[in-house]
Formats: sequence, C-alpha cells, structure tokens
Amino acid sequence: MAQKEANGSSNGEHTTRPPPTPSPLRFSKFFQANLRILVTGGAGFIGSHLVDKLMENEKHEVIVADNFFTGSKDNLKKWIGHPRFELIRHDVTQPLLVEVDQIYHLACPASPIFYKHNPVKTIKTNVIGTLNMLGLAKRVGARILLTSTSEVYGDPLEHPQTEAYWGNVNPIEIRIARIFNTYGPRMNIDDGRVVSNFIAQAVRGEPLTVQKPGTQTRSFCYVADMVNGLIKLMNGDNTGPINLGNPGEFTMLELAENVKELINPEVTVTMTENTPDDPRQRKPDITKAKEVLGWEPKIVLRDGLVLMEDDFRERLQVPKKNQA
Ligand code: UDP
Repeated sequence: MAQKEANGSSNGEHTTRPPPTPSPLRFSKFFQANLRILVTGGAGFIGSHLVDKLMENEKHEVIVADNFFTGSKDNLKKWIGHPRFELIRHDVTQPLLVEVDQIYHLACPASPIFYKHNPVKTIKTNVIGTLNMLGLAKRVGARILLTSTSEVYGDPLEHPQTEAYWGNVNPIEIRIARIFNTYGPRMNIDDGRVVSNFIAQAVRGEPLTVQKPGTQTRSFCYVADMVNGLIKLMNGDNTGPINLGNPGEFTMLELAENVKELINPEVTVTMTENTPDDPRQRKPDITKAKEVLGWEPKIVLRDGLVLMEDDFRERLQVPKKNQA
C-alpha cells in the first residue's frame, strides 16, 4: 500500500487517523477502573520487564500471551496467581480473541540463534502473528504498539540512523518501536548476544569472545529505559516508527574492556570469527523520541552492566569473590 493512501491523504501530506474506537463496554462504569493490556511475548526479556512496570500500576490488568519458545515462566513468577495478571500459553501465529484496550506486540525470537532455528516459523511469527494482532486490535478497538528492530536499517550508510533512513517500510498507522540493542537482567544466558555472552563469560572466568574486527560498534540500551520508552510511545499521540535506544556508542573491544574491568579483570579477550554481513556500526538517532515522547535513556552502560552482573551471577550460581 502506498504511504500516502495508508495515511489517508491523496496529496501526499501526512494525516493521522484517530485510533479505532473501543467497544462501548469499555466506557461502562464497571470497566473504567482498569485498562486491560495484552503483552505478546510477555515472558521474554523485554516483555517481562514491561509486564513488571505495567503491573506496578494498580489500575492495569495484564494478559501475557507467550509460547515459551524463548521466553520463560520464571521471568513472570512474581505475578503468577496475581488477580490482575493472566498468563496464556499461546502462539501468535494462531488467532487470539481477548477483550483488551492496549496490545504490546513483542512476540518473536530476537536472537539470531533462535530466529535462525526455524526461519520459516520466524517469518510466520512476524507476518501472521502481526496480522493476527492487528486483526484483534481492530476487532476490539484496542491501541496497538508493534516492536520492530534496528536491523531494518541493515548495515547503515547513514550514521546515526534516523527513522527516515532506508526501509521506509512504514505503511500503517500504528505505533512502531524500533528497538536498538537492549540488555539487562533476564536476558537468556545462551542468547548469543554480545552483552549476555561477555557477562556470562566474565562471570565464569572464560575469555571474552570479541568477533572480528572488534571495531564494529553498537549502542546498548538498558532494559528499564527501553520499557519506559515503550510505555510512553503507547500512551502518547504519535504513530509511526520511533527509534528507542541509547545513543552511547561502543566498539566491541571497548565493551569487552568495560566488562573485564567491571566484572572480572582476570579474564582475557580473544578474537573470534564473525558472521557474514555483520553491521559495522549502529547508533540510534533518538531526536524524534526526545521531541515527541520526551524520552531519553538514563542508565549509562557501565551502570547497567553491573546491574546485569548480579542477575547473571545468581542464575549461574557464581557469587562474587568477596561474597563467596
Ligand atoms: N559479538 C561479539 N562477540 C560475541 C557475540 C557478538 O563480538 O560473543 C559482536 C557481533 O559480531 C556484533 C555485535 O557483537 O558485531 C553485536 O552482536 P549481537 O548479536 O549482540 O547484536 P546485533 O548484531 O543484533 O546488533
């Protein structure tokens, strides 16, 4: 669909349609108190932190739909049994009918190890899963936020990347979060991502595996900042894609040095083979998020790494030396 048609404008100007109207039931006095929120992929890394934040608001009921392919009930254990919380084992490639006001659609494996495991299933999850959630949003009049990825910018020729760069694949009027590299507690230990690999390696006393050349850059956002951005995007008036990420940019060698210094100065750094087509650089341009959401990340990498270390030590059962 052409951009201008999707935006409801024939002269090329951007106009925004109002969101779908919620069912009249939602305005009845019995429903006023609570906002019902569906989080697909809510048992995953970012999803479960989002659920924590949403559950902190006593006026919210949260429904998680997750097939537990990469997510885990452990991530939600503090909410299981809570009267405002519901957990459904559900694969988003199948239709789902639930009366909700907001849908955060996060369901899809994000790590290459997992999304390459069954590429066709991954495509189905993205395409059919998103269609199912759009259908649900339309049917029940819910507001939907789709999580996208900075990977759509590929190996970028424009740096830092603005939302307008490449891709221009943005034909629908919904809220789209372009999530850049995010890290924090509850990342899968074997996720294969660089921060989880380095922290697990440092905690275990193994060499940190920097993939060649090591000068490639990424910008890492702490998960609590990411979740705040997602909630602001959902509750703000702006549709279309918005970059969410931390513009602090590091080479992988710098990241390894930071992890080594903060977590285990005794480990070595070793160079290993890289995968083909690894983007050489990535850094979000978050001007739009600052302007329209008033959002910017607060937690710097060195602080976030330490917060993540505690969680990894607990799960790997390797206490700090002075605590042993
Ligand atoms: N990387 C690394 N060592 C690892 C895992 C990844 O040096 O053990 C590098 C990888 O080559 C890439 C960067 O870290 O340049 C980020 O990789 P990740 O898979 O975490 O995220 P993405 O490539 O999706 O940004």
